[in-house]
Amino acid sequence: MKERLVVVGNGMAGIRAVEDLLASAPGRYDITVFGAEPHPNYNRIMLSPVLAGEKTFDQIILNGHDWYEANGITLYTGDGVTAIDPAARIVTSASGRTVAYDKLLLAVGSTPVVLPVPGAGLPGVIGFRDLADVDAMMDATRTGRNAVVIGAGLLGLEAANGLAAHGMTVTVLHLMGTIMERQLDEAAGALLQGELEGRGISIITRAQTAAIEGDGRVQRVRLNDGRVIDADLVVMAVGIRPATALAKAAGLEVNRGIVVNDRMVTSDPNILAVGECVEHRGQTYGLVAPLWDMAKVVAGELAGIGGAGYHGTVTATRLKVTGIEVFSAGTFNEPGADDIVFRDAARGVYKRILIKDNRIAGVVLYGDTADGPWYFQMLKDGESVETIRDTLIFGPNAGAVDADPAAAVAALPDSAEICGCNGVCKGTIVAAIRDKGCTSVDDVRTHTKASASCGNCTGLVEKLLASTLGASYAGESASRPMCKCTHHTHDDVRRLIVAGNLKSIPAVMQALEWTTAEGCASCRPALNYYLMCAWPGDYRDDAQSRYINERVHANIQKDGTYSVVPRMWGGLTNPAELRAIADVAERYAIPTVKVTGGQRIDLLGARKEDLPAIWADLNAAGMVSGHAYAKGLRTVKTCVGSEWCRFGTQASMDMGVRLERMTWGTWTPHKFKMAVSGCPRNCAEATIKDFGVVAVDSGWELHVGGNGGMKVRACDLLCKVETMEEVEEYCGAFIQMYREDARYLERTAPWIERIGLEPIRARILNEADRKALHRRFLHSQSFEQTDPWAERASGRVDAHEFAPLATFDAPATPTTLAAE
Ligand SMILES: Cc1cc2nc3c(=O)[nH]c(=O)nc-3n(C[C@H](O)[C@H](O)[C@H](O)COP(=O)(O)OP(=O)(O)OC[C@H]3O[C@@H](n4cnc5c(N)ncnc54)[C@H](O)[C@@H]3O)c2cc1C
Ligand code: SF4
Ligand code: SF4
Repeated sequence: MKERLVVVGNGMAGIRAVEDLLASAPGRYDITVFGAEPHPNYNRIMLSPVLAGEKTFDQIILNGHDWYEANGITLYTGDGVTAIDPAARIVTSASGRTVAYDKLLLAVGSTPVVLPVPGAGLPGVIGFRDLADVDAMMDATRTGRNAVVIGAGLLGLEAANGLAAHGMTVTVLHLMGTIMERQLDEAAGALLQGELEGRGISIITRAQTAAIEGDGRVQRVRLNDGRVIDADLVVMAVGIRPATALAKAAGLEVNRGIVVNDRMVTSDPNILAVGECVEHRGQTYGLVAPLWDMAKVVAGELAGIGGAGYHGTVTATRLKVTGIEVFSAGTFNEPGADDIVFRDAARGVYKRILIKDNRIAGVVLYGDTADGPWYFQMLKDGESVETIRDTLIFGPNAGAVDADPAAAVAALPDSAEICGCNGVCKGTIVAAIRDKGCTSVDDVRTHTKASASCGNCTGLVEKLLASTLGASYAGESASRPMCKCTHHTHDDVRRLIVAGNLKSIPAVMQALEWTTAEGCASCRPALNYYLMCAWPGDYRDDAQSRYINERVHANIQKDGTYSVVPRMWGGLTNPAELRAIADVAERYAIPTVKVTGGQRIDLLGARKEDLPAIWADLNAAGMVSGHAYAKGLRTVKTCVGSEWCRFGTQASMDMGVRLERMTWGTWTPHKFKMAVSGCPRNCAEATIKDFGVVAVDSGWELHVGGNGGMKVRACDLLCKVETMEEVEEYCGAFIQMYREDARYLERTAPWIERIGLEPIRARILNEADRKALHRRFLHSQSFEQTDPWAERASGRVDAHEFAPLATFDAPATPTTLAAE
């Protein structure tokens, strides 16, 4: 008869131990799992993205019911174990089930700490631990307006971010002076606080909660200093406590957690424990990385194959808030340690490394965390950094002019951890690529679980695929079909359009055997763009294959009206233009006139039927469409430069106007933004644009691939040039390369991350290639620089654009392409 294993706790650690056990000793045990939650095993750390609306619950399930069935595991969900009888070796559950065991594994996790303040038990006061908490928060976002989060640690800030994403007014209260003070030093904490406050989250540090108040439900939080904050919801995120009650009642040795030895065995030889509930050598943990190490040891112990035992885990932390990069490991308060600090205020980057006895004792990275795994590995290995100390802060690529982000990953040892959530190291991933034939992130995920969780490591996995497979790795979407209408990838379709001399959408669909008659809302705009790019002048734009904004040449707003943005070259305007805009605003009763972030004026609330007349009036004053709706050139933002500014070294306004005159009207895979700053103070924020120009004493620095918005990316430096003519030529060549190479709807930032900066540099810095690209760009511009407003206002374009969109795939249900 098989031995009986009962697992109490259906969470991350318990099930990981079962997975490891099944791998090393399949069929050895009859396994029964009790879970207090009513769900199969899910990835708890992904509750933050679920709360932020970035993932659904289904997407974070690690093992569905079918997995338990397939492995012959009996699962009782929603039925917590209430008692253990170690002498009789029986557990009893809340529903009254009794199950006998030979080995028992406790994996009951921890519970949120509740502050002992009056009102802590009021309805509307919750922790952030499980799906039920997320559901409660989601409900609160629908009915309430104000949320207070107590505690600005990892969980508190992720909760605050998620609640703010749902439109709640969020105040975070933190007892200490620095947020995430266990992971961040003061400087990084201040940067993070500034970023979160910039996103509308209020943070009060040194805030001591006196009471939570409300009539039958939470209504406000009172601080010791008398301040009162309205609250329809209070999330307590002030820490966790290992769940020890069950073990204690069973007579097991319990301290802060359930005490285990190096073999993960408790004071009862038949009972093991794993995860956040344990205390090992006086240490408890609150991150997943230690669980993977513990789970392996548990599996070895249960399988009877022993092993080296568990000796503790050094942990690193990353914050999962989209667009904020924070990495921290080790200590930053070590007496006698030296500091190496790097700050780049313009890029919002801060790095600090603590060195003690020539070894890294701690790392804090903010804004650029790409080298985090490299430092972390050296920290864990206790490697001496004596010989590289001078350049350590610049990462593994220090000194290399052509710093290649993939090189940092290639330089890591096999033991370097790539996926912290699932404890997968570089060697395992590289082995899967080499031995199991993995050619995509999906393949790697299936074989190793790397990047199956929060996804922060997806970029690293891609770089490993690139460095292991070399040129044969074509990037991610390369291997996926363009959409359900075809089995061809984007890259295939582009290639075959040119190879087959295909010059219309029907011709492409015919030759490439599209499986639908008309295509769909995904492939039609992409095909329209690819054809336009391949055959300038020859291909006639298909308006019906465009997004609504591009068809009507204005941005549709949430109330169905439109916004109209005339072009202001380089952000410059004059009294005549301003007068014409004012007249239009009055004549057509435009309710809102707004200056945009791209230095233009937006007329919001225009009625669709007034659009042609508005355009005609603006045209008459010499203004053209600003293409504020287009997958094409948007704006060229400028600072006042040497024309007015005492710091300016070059004429940035003139440069910006020249660039905009050259590039307006172009269609690109996605929107394209530029900026020109007159000196390195960079007032035009040129280093977060698709193409940014920063004047220096001897000329102009050209930066590419930057992005603001959700996922901020600072540009890569392409090169330095001397004259305005060169800036124009490099810019045209870069845009043309992006137009010809990137996939439809791919911004320059992910494009560069995918293919790397090197191939772009190689072509743009090569004179013959650059000139050829620039020539092709100007040739295509000769067809594209027609003002759509003038065309439409003059009646040269028929009114079909204003009719509802054509139906692509199902005549009965009109398809509306999503607005930008
Ligand atoms: C919102 C959130 C975000 C996080 N983000 C990160 C992150 O980015 N990185 C990171 O490393 N870590 C993160 N963590 C921490 C990580 O999720 C935990 O370290 C990990 O889940 C602990 O695993 P565990 O199995 O010990 O506990 P759990 O995953 O909590 O599993 C314990 C399970 O046991 C059940 N249980 C308890 N008592 C009983 C009983 N008597 N009978 C039956 N079942 C019982 C519980 O209901 C629970 O389902 C995060 C945690 C949260 C809540
Ligand atoms: S390293 Fe993460 S923290 Fe982590 S992406 Fe991998 S699965 Fe997640
Ligand atoms: S970037 Fe330089 S030149 Fe331009 S406004 Fe700022 S300080 Fe002046």
